[in-house]
Amino acid sequence: MRALLFLLFLQPKRYTMSHLTGGSFLTRQAAPNEIFISEEWNEEQLMIAEMVREFCMKEIQEEMLERGREFDVSIEEDKKEVVVLLEKAAALGFCGVGIEEKYGGIDLDFNTGLLFSEAIALGLSFATTIGAQTSIGSLPIVYYGTEKQKKKYLPGIASAELKASYCLTEPNAGSDANSGKTKAILSPDGKHYLLSGQKIWITNGGFADLFIVFAKIDDDKKLSAFIVEKAFGGITLGAEEKKMGIKGSSTVQVFFDNCPVPVDNLLSERGSGFKIALNILNTGRIKLAAGAVGGSKFATTKAITYAKERKQFGKSISDFGAIKQKLGEMCTRTFAIDAAVYRTGKNIDLKTQEFIKNGLSSSEAKLKAIREFAVECSILKVKGSENVCQVADETIQVYGGMGYSAEMGIETGYRDARITRIYEGTNEINRMLSVGELTKRAIQTKEIDLITPGKKIPFQLIKQLLPFKSKAGLNEEKRIVQNIKSTFLLISGAAGQKLKAKLVDEQEIVMNFSDILAEAYIAESVLLKIEKLQSMSDVDKNKLAIQQQMLQYYLYEALATTRKAAYDAIYSYTTGIERSFMRRLVNTLLKPYNINPKETRRAIANYIIEKGEYCF
Ligand SMILES: Cc1cc2nc3c(=O)[nH]c(=O)nc-3n(C[C@H](O)[C@H](O)[C@H](O)COP(=O)(O)OP(=O)(O)OC[C@H]3O[C@@H](n4cnc5c(N)ncnc54)[C@H](O)[C@@H]3O)c2cc1C
Repeated sequence: MRALLFLLFLQPKRYTMSHLTGGSFLTRQAAPNEIFISEEWNEEQLMIAEMVREFCMKEIQEEMLERGREFDVSIEEDKKEVVVLLEKAAALGFCGVGIEEKYGGIDLDFNTGLLFSEAIALGLSFATTIGAQTSIGSLPIVYYGTEKQKKKYLPGIASAELKASYCLTEPNAGSDANSGKTKAILSPDGKHYLLSGQKIWITNGGFADLFIVFAKIDDDKKLSAFIVEKAFGGITLGAEEKKMGIKGSSTVQVFFDNCPVPVDNLLSERGSGFKIALNILNTGRIKLAAGAVGGSKFATTKAITYAKERKQFGKSISDFGAIKQKLGEMCTRTFAIDAAVYRTGKNIDLKTQEFIKNGLSSSEAKLKAIREFAVECSILKVKGSENVCQVADETIQVYGGMGYSAEMGIETGYRDARITRIYEGTNEINRMLSVGELTKRAIQTKEIDLITPGKKIPFQLIKQLLPFKSKAGLNEEKRIVQNIKSTFLLISGAAGQKLKAKLVDEQEIVMNFSDILAEAYIAESVLLKIEKLQSMSDVDKNKLAIQQQMLQYYLYEALATTRKAAYDAIYSYTTGIERSFMRRLVNTLLKPYNINPKETRRAIANYIIEKGEYCF
């Protein structure tokens, strides 16, 4: 009996991983029918996106062209106009996308909310303004508010009667957000918290009526969160920050001096502020990625249009290979990230429904579902923001001198895009988080099994050395995706064994792992998308042929990124025989993909040049 008990003890945990288990993409092969692709939006969803785009083009972009400059909130008149824009957007329902109907919102499902973020990106810096209203400034109340708090504040946020902001960052608490010094002291009569401290970089702060403020009560070690009305008093604002970009978005310092906050305005429980802050940022991260997809598509279309019009050496610059290379790359990366964003968004919706079935309330379920996909949200934030920055940069290059001129508005996009790598957690922090969260799920909570797939790698390697391999269908592409995943498991597993707890101090190596992890997720998402498209009867075959080439080109690039990151890591933590052994394993896993990158990119570029826009 004792022996049996011992065996039971040794029995590994039974993992019940599905595609709705965050991080499971690494160890489980998803099926194409498990993922959502953007070709599956219904009429209503497409109509919402179109309405948002129209609003942005008419109210913001055309207005900017007319006045010959971007919105700039350091000019008082512009600031007033931005406030009016927010109210106009609210009248169309845009400020209530994340708020339940009973509180005046339109409560879009999570994935449609991401489509909204993609579309509103056409509003340039206004996307940050409305983003703070609909995301960080209001979701703490949506997810953590009491019924009374929701009834009191959410209708005003949905109608933009209340402009919302989120105050976490302080002069000495940026990435290390938990180290904030803002204090909340209970008043002698026990009715108020008296809030004192300084917050910096507060989006919408210049006109906000409502501040979600993170502060420590008395001598607490942990942050708490409060809903603070400007009308409470004791609040002063700094001047508008002079920023590199997003000049149409208000960013100020906010000073609290014994601001009396009714005790009823504490959000959730005392000490739960950091948890709230992080969970809200998870949502912000994937929304930022969706916005980055919107910005990238828009900039790509601009680049295509200009390249066709601009003539040099007797022909359109779009006829030159160097320009086609840029367009092909911009289009491919955007297409791939799009696949991963909406795959994740739908999974969050499905997970929410699963939690609701198990008895959670709608807001608890949404929150837990977003938390589940924290690894994916961090990956998407990094990849989305880096892509939009690259696309904006290359768009300027396609425009040449005219890209550098303020006249065309192209440089605005370049400056605006840059912030995406800094806020919602810097890309360094998000890189660290993606690997850290995955490790936590494998080691602490044991929700995903990294050991069993790791043990299979030797067999996989032997299989790769056998002479007969089927290249039918997408077998070659599936092998590449699997091998990127195996590379992550192999080198991170070996580093974990060798460096143990010291690994957290080797951030460069962790960032190498994070880059491989991200490639695994994005590459698999685009592969699954193509497999799904192939199984659909009503697809345009010519377009599908180009989409397949984008898959090929993405994998070609993903292999190169993975190889570089893997070598960097191996050369950083191994020497001698161990190094050559690891290098050989990685070489076997990451064999070159036999495509012609130039012709593949050209085919993609030729297609979008002919269509005259990003058309996927
Ligand atoms: C335009 C704008 C709008 C903003 N809006 C808001 C808002 O509405 N509300 C709000 O609360 N905040 C807001 N922020 C603040 C933003 O979230 C912070 O700027 C961001 O979190 C980074 O903090 P920091 O600027 O203090 O940089 P730091 O934390 O000082 O980081 C500086 C550099 O060091 C790196 N670094 C820091 N710690 C580590 C580490 N442990 N390991 C490795 N590298 C590290 C960072 O990645 C970065 O490269 C906004 C900022 C800007 C610029």
